[in-house]
Amino acid sequence: MFELNGKVAIVTGCNTGLGQGMALALAQAGCDIVGINVVPASETATALERMGRRFHDIAADLRTAAAEALVARATAAFGHIDILVNNAGIIRRADALEFTEQDWDDVIAVNLKAVFFLSQAAARQFIRQKTAGRIVNIASLLSFQGGIRVPSYTAAKSGVLGLTRLLANEWAQYGITVNAIAPGYMATNNTAPLRADPARSKEILGRIPLGRWGLPADLGGPVVFLGLGRRVLRHRPRARRRRRLARTLSHQAGDPGAESIFTLTGNAKRSLQRQTVIASSHRPPPAGGNSQ
Ligand code: NAP
Repeated sequence: MFELNGKVAIVTGCNTGLGQGMALALAQAGCDIVGINVVPASETATALERMGRRFHDIAADLRTAAAEALVARATAAFGHIDILVNNAGIIRRADALEFTEQDWDDVIAVNLKAVFFLSQAAARQFIRQKTAGRIVNIASLLSFQGGIRVPSYTAAKSGVLGLTRLLANEWAQYGITVNAIAPGYMATNNTAPLRADPARSKEILGRIPLGRWGLPADLGGPVVFLGLGRRVLRHRPRARRRRRLARTLSHQAGDPGAESIFTLTGNAKRSLQRQTVIASSHRPPPAGGNSQ
């Protein structure tokens, strides 16, 4: 059911973490992958080659790189593009009273500005190709909550949520779907300082019913599903479709409980978010919102 044979997916920041997990899952489903990374994604390249998939890595810093040129290079690599996963992201932690302009600008540049301009460049290419492209943005729980000590991250991820909704509205007419996955707390470089702090780690785990940090592989099922987009959503009666999707997502994540560690938003929201199986696992934070 979830086959992406012959498709080409761009995944930003796929040398490690969630981007690597999603690149491997998309490749497993049949995609060739174009990476956009600051440092070469050699580990990802080796894994993809072992699967028999093609991988083209573009070296670029998303704070400054021109999105149109990146998408042109990605398209030239394998002749077309079908999926864009806007995954690359950074986080800077400091009290709001002390937060610097540099930490504001860097995070907004990678986590929000690059998401918009890469999406714009990819959508223009999908329209030129006359194909129904798929865009998947990586949002965050902090698209919905305030958090603490991460003002530019919360602003950017809240922006990603609004942007996803706007682009989904504008580009549906071209058959392009735009969705976002909002992960909970995942074990990657992004959260290394939190996991290294026993008090914070305990407090965070106490709010996750699964009792563990999420893993990059947990996002495999959702990103493959959103890469397929409307072709799945169109053909199945609603109730049966929901049951199948819930089952397939949890099995693709390799953990029948894993669907509770992310939320989805965008074109898929109407058909998925209403289902109780797709829900954030995080109980509301204590008064004062102690997240991240
Ligand atoms: P990660 O391991 O730090 O990965 C981030 C990726 O983005 C890395 O590949 C990184 O490359 C790349 N990147 C950073 N700055 C870049 C730039 N200027 N240009 C190009 N690439 C750049 O963190 P992660 O947790 O996997 O994060 C992936 C996404 O998930 C991010 O958008 C993050 O905000 C989001 N997210 C994470 C969590 C979580 O709990 N971990 C929760 C919600 C959302 P380098 O390795 O070379 O720096």
